Parts: sequence; C-alpha cells; structure tokens
Amino acid sequence: MKKPELLIPAGNLEKMRTAILYGADAVYMGVTGLSLRAQSAEMSLADLTNGVLEAHACGVKVYAAINTFARNCDLEQARRIIPELAAIPIDAVIVSDPGMIRLIRSLEPHLPIHLSTQANTTNAEAVRFWQDQGVKRIVLARELNLKEVGEIAAAVPEMELELFVHGAMCMAYSGRCYLSAYRNQRSANEGDCTQACRWEYLLSELTRPGDPLVLEEDERYSYLLSSKDLCLIDHLPEVLASGVISLKIEGRMKSTHYVAAVSRTYRWALDALMQKKEYYRCDPQWMEELKKISNRGYTTGFAFAEEKINETSPEIKYLQTHELAATVLQYDAAQKMILISVRNHLVAGDEVELLLPDDTVTIDTRLMVDTEGNQIQKANNDNQVYLPLTREAPIGALLRQKVK
Ligand code: SF4
Repeated sequence: MKKPELLIPAGNLEKMRTAILYGADAVYMGVTGLSLRAQSAEMSLADLTNGVLEAHACGVKVYAAINTFARNCDLEQARRIIPELAAIPIDAVIVSDPGMIRLIRSLEPHLPIHLSTQANTTNAEAVRFWQDQGVKRIVLARELNLKEVGEIAAAVPEMELELFVHGAMCMAYSGRCYLSAYRNQRSANEGDCTQACRWEYLLSELTRPGDPLVLEEDERYSYLLSSKDLCLIDHLPEVLASGVISLKIEGRMKSTHYVAAVSRTYRWALDALMQKKEYYRCDPQWMEELKKISNRGYTTGFAFAEEKINETSPEIKYLQTHELAATVLQYDAAQKMILISVRNHLVAGDEVELLLPDDTVTIDTRLMVDTEGNQIQKANNDNQVYLPLTREAPIGALLRQKVK
C-alpha cells in the first residue's frame, strides 16, 4: 500500500509549525483575500514564503487555498498573486472557481492545481472534466460514500483523490449556504460562517410572539441542523482501500491544541496501519485523544451512507475536555527543566499534560518556578516559567490542562 498523505490545516505560522512537529506530511493555508476563510485564518505572501521555506526544510508540502468564488473585482488581485505563489514556490493551489483555474493555466501553467471540495465533485465524468482542465488533484465532495469514492478512483486511476476524514460537517450541500450571511451578515461563501445552523430556533405565529411553537428533539433544544463532526479514524483501512491518496483534516479556524492533537493521533493511526494493515484497529486511546479537543460528538458522516443526511448533534456547544496551557520555549538539559510560555493561566497543582509527538507526559506543576528561580503559585498569560521534566521536549510542543 502506498503511504498516504496526512494533510493538516494551518491557519497561521504557529499552527503550521505545530502540524509539522506532530506529524503532518502536508499543510494547507489560506492566502489573504482569496481563500474561503475569515481573515484570521489567512496568511500574507510574506508569511507564506517563510512558511514554505520552513516546511520544505522538514520535507512537508504546502498547499495554498485560493478557493474563493471570484468576482470580477477579485481578478486583478488574483493575476498579481498567482505568479507570486508560483515563485515561492508553493506545492499546489487549491481552487474552486473555473475562472481562477483558467487564470492559473494561462499565467503559471506548471503550477499544480487541486480542486476544492467546494466544487462539489461527485462522479467520474466530473473528475474527467476537471482533468481536461488541467486539475491534478480533486478534493471529493463530502456527500460521497466510500463505495462511490472507490468507483471514481477505479474509473479515473490517474487522478489524485483527496478526502476529508476528520472535522466539522456542514449541513449545507458542499458548504453552499447563506444562513450565516442572512442571520448576521457574515457569509459562509466568503469564509466567515458564524455557524448559525447551530443556534437554537423557535417557530412563532405572528400574532402570538410570546407563544412560540417549540420543536424539541429532546429536552435540551432543537438541533435539527447541527451536525456531529466527521471522524473516520476507526475506518482508515476502508478509506485507503477506496483509492484516495490524501487524508484531509478540516479546521483552519481551529486552535493550536486541535492541530496538535489531530496531527499526532492520525499520524499514530496511519503509521500503525502502514505497519500491519490486516491487524489495524482503532486504539481506544486515540479516540480519548480526539475527545479532548473541541468536537460535537463524532459521526462517520456519509462514508457508509447511501443518501442519508448527517446525524445531528445534541451538543449546543463544542465538547472539549482539555485546553491549551502553555507552549515549550526551551529545554534545559542540565537542570532538567522546560521553559514554557503560559496561555491563559496556570496554578501550582494544576494537572498538566505535555504533548510529545509520540507520547503524553504528566507534569508536576507544584514545582513551577519563575525565570529568577523563585517557586511560584500562579502564572498568567504570556508569563515564562520553568517546570521539571526528565526527558527532552521539542521547542513548540504544547502543554494542556483540563478545561476549568
Ligand atoms: S451556517 Fe451551518 S450550514 Fe451554513 S455554511 Fe455555516 S456551518 Fe454550514
């Protein structure tokens, strides 16, 4: 079996470094003004250039998302940015809009093009169509089941296929939705979805505004539109058997902790799978790890469904048992201490886990000292403090604690 690519979202340089540290084969990033994500998850060309240099030095590929559905007014910026992306050089661009594909082919014909899942590719003829347009890889529509994915891979074996295996699911068909734009003027089609589908709604009759018709799925609220998150870690053998070569994780807007946890968990799973495919089983520890990051409960989505709507989630908020506590700045081998930068705040006695690429280590925070060597009881956001650690930890490794 060919080694598949583990493709991780990187909303900024810090997240890119985290993804690389914890096992990504490739990362994808947005380009300012041209990607379907809010500005907070987009990168300037300068950052992207630095990111690509760093990633390539580690053998990791970088794909730049310019998957906006361009208006005429976007074309000038696109004409300027496409040659700059090719010069970096980025490994591929992720695109949704046929106009952008035409521009790329005329300006930079050797720049590899990956077709975004937003283009909603659901059959082999559509794959051949995009192949004729010069597309090298297709991120298949999330609405496909694995049987259909396998049929497409068999029909068009020369096309690279990429599939989402983890992350939030959208109730709109391939993400085409105006609910967020309608409810609070922030459009999902411009990468700024406020997830209005997850809010609680009441149905009122005009003359009786204080007497809504309550549609309850259970005693908590009506969550008709709020999907659970996709998680296919238990089914990686079937996913790979379908013929996809790249496994994509959703979440350019998600936290650094999310990036670390999904990267290392799927890295462990893929390495186990590549070692002994026939003995693969989802280690319960992997699921425990995935429950520590933000999620709405997990589903296999459409992977084994014929034409089934995603399961909805009874969780109005994300489930998340742990949150980021600190980042490792340095390891002092002589003192057997790590210097960390605290996120939020840390109190002596808090139970803290250090995430290593291959292990999780519990650290005793009662022995926390400041940079002057004084034992302290509390550290605040951005404070630098030392904690004891008998083994080396890489710079950029994360520490987490239970949500308080
Ligand atoms: S509001 Fe909900 S259904 Fe619409 S794009 Fe956002 S996540 Fe998808």
